[in-house]
Amino acid sequence: MVTGDPHGEAVAASSRWQSLSAGIDSSHRKIDEIYGCDVFDLRKMRDRLPKNTFGAVVETIENNSKLSTDDAEVIATAMKDWAIERGATHYTHWFQPMTGLTAEKHDSLVTPDGNGGVVYRLSGSNLIQGEPDASSFPSGGLRATFEARGYTAWDATSPAFIVRGNNYATLCIPTAFVSWNGEALDKKTPLLRSIDALDKQAMRILKIFGTDEGVKSVGSTLGAEQEYFLIDRNLYFARPDLVSCGRTLFGAVPPKHQQLDDHYFGSIPPRVNGFMAEFEEELFRLGVPVQTRHNEVAPGQYEIAPLFESTNIACDHQAILMDTLKKVAGRFGFVACLHEKPFAGVNGSGKHNNWSIATDTGVNLLDPQDETHTNTQFMTFLCSVIRAVHIHGDLLRATIASASNDHRLGANEAPPAIISIFLGDMLTDLIEQIEEGKTSRTIKGGELDLGSRTLPALKRDSGDRNRTSPFAFTGNKFELRAVGSTASVSWPNTVINTIVAESLDFIATRIEEAMGKAPTPGKREEVVRKVLRDVVREHKAIIFNGDNYADEWQEEAHRRGLPNLRSTADALPALQTTKVKSVFRKYKVLSKTELGSRVEIFAEKYITEISIEAQQMASMGRTMILPAAIKHQRNLAETVAATEGAGVDSTVLRTELELFVEMVCLLKDRIEDVEQVRELPETGLMGQCEYCRDRIVPAMEALRAIGDELESQVEAELWPMPVYSQLLTLR
Ligand code: ADP
Ligand code: MG
Repeated sequence: MVTGDPHGEAVAASSRWQSLSAGIDSSHRKIDEIYGCDVFDLRKMRDRLPKNTFGAVVETIENNSKLSTDDAEVIATAMKDWAIERGATHYTHWFQPMTGLTAEKHDSLVTPDGNGGVVYRLSGSNLIQGEPDASSFPSGGLRATFEARGYTAWDATSPAFIVRGNNYATLCIPTAFVSWNGEALDKKTPLLRSIDALDKQAMRILKIFGTDEGVKSVGSTLGAEQEYFLIDRNLYFARPDLVSCGRTLFGAVPPKHQQLDDHYFGSIPPRVNGFMAEFEEELFRLGVPVQTRHNEVAPGQYEIAPLFESTNIACDHQAILMDTLKKVAGRFGFVACLHEKPFAGVNGSGKHNNWSIATDTGVNLLDPQDETHTNTQFMTFLCSVIRAVHIHGDLLRATIASASNDHRLGANEAPPAIISIFLGDMLTDLIEQIEEGKTSRTIKGGELDLGSRTLPALKRDSGDRNRTSPFAFTGNKFELRAVGSTASVSWPNTVINTIVAESLDFIATRIEEAMGKAPTPGKREEVVRKVLRDVVREHKAIIFNGDNYADEWQEEAHRRGLPNLRSTADALPALQTTKVKSVFRKYKVLSKTELGSRVEIFAEKYITEISIEAQQMASMGRTMILPAAIKHQRNLAETVAATEGAGVDSTVLRTELELFVEMVCLLKDRIEDVEQVRELPETGLMGQCEYCRDRIVPAMEALRAIGDELESQVEAELWPMPVYSQLLTLR
């Protein structure tokens, strides 16, 4: 902070807000030098903008106030100067359309000066608003191509950054993308609205407890751990299924894969570690604070975890991370595969969505503190989350639904499709106390004696972890573990923010009503406890600390009335209920039409992905596996004939041939089945989703079974594509 600078404090608070925990150790020189150097963040703005203009930016970020045209002009010029100093030639409004990916359309920063020369220019209006057309993105009926206007609007809360390659550098300005009548066409707009909703309701709770002093806003925080596979580039391109679908549609599990757990947390292969170092350096340059890297369970599988940040920025950073991951992998001869289940039979990839609520002053509102039983404010936030997840478990399930994530959920490696909450011993005990109406103890973890004088005594957490839970409390945050590795995290966090805002609203209203005006602290305590007791009574069915993989849980969950929506086709209808429509409308996150458009987009994506897979599979079956099998059959037949010609008994060989011929016929039949069921019925989108689930997916599974069986029978030399043992081994 600069002393005497009226905005010093604001910068301190806002930069903390922009990057809540990006406290990179300055002794870490190299990182310190490159960290954020391609990011036009508040610090750079403070250095480059006149005081008044800078004040206006801070105002915009903190209080959503509108920027004047003059200020926009000054900011745009400063941003442009900074960008061209760093080699940028183009700029783009960078946004997150409903594809779940990011979008960019580059415009040159160079314009004619009117005297036969050129100048670098970025006008205020170019900064604030764009009209990229972009009419080919999915809009779920929100806009037809003949009324194609779409606008991008600058999100001043997320810093602009420069994406660079060998001979290019592009200034990327984070924006929201909306239609001509202001309907959200992207993932960012609803997220920002959900953060506002959460802010408003959480502030009411702070007011109730008198802890709102100095707090300007409350928002959610997010740290999303990303799992991914690295596949050797040459092998990857020899597999049409990986190229067009991102996963193997055929492939027998090799004898040795992950059974020995020898890959998990294993020593990182040097080529991979080299890639990780460059990947991370690139992220630091873009201001994405990453912290953890390791080998994951499956061979060829890895993970990267960032430091958490405020959700809007964390979501932008997550999108940058996925993009950078793919780009840098290529330089090392890898393809980064983000699909949820690239390989059958070994673990798939997810994204652990670590979420919490924090004030702009940096207080984590889901931190239970030492004497938790005295921390009524924490209990209030906790109970709000419990209530939200119980009421909207089906919505959360629908939020993470996709054709690719269907392969992973419930497959004994990822949480089941039933949404429940894990709280651990300490909080479960606390919840029981709340239900009884009196909280008097906090279970402590104590110390662990390791039985050796040379080892330190370890502080033990008050509860163990539960890796099987889809929504687990992990010390001072909740972790939604069911998000798919390809997914954009903006949508799940939009949903969590919204449903928690609804419960905070419910609880705050109850408390405020019962408390009356000017209550004493004693009265407040009494009222809060009553309200929380009722919430726990009504919603504790969502809490489950046991093994989510166990079959008994399915029955138990059914008894508790918790939905078990196994596939995307089962889950998506949850987005169309009155309950869901009204929560989005009430908190102004999505209008009925905006929600409807999303349902349409998700359903279309599911159907299209499965249709592409079916087509790809039939084609590989027909043009790769069948010919290889026929060659093998001919070799067998020639051997039988030659053996018989030599007057030797060929019974065993002949039986082998007959069995093989049967398999080849079966392969051909199943290819035809897939070809036939590919035709979609005229039943509307939801009907088509069900058709995919009931007809196409089973036909593909049957084709895969015979294809994989043949892989283990056909001469290896004849097999037309790299097999798992090759794909999963990096040299
Ligand atoms: P793991 O769950 O794998 O043991 P950690 O507990 O270290 O890992 O945290 C995982 C992720 O959770 C990291 O990205 C971290 O930044 C994030 N995280 C930690 N605290 C918070 C918080 N208050 N809000 C959101 N994310 C958080
Ligand atoms: Mg985790």
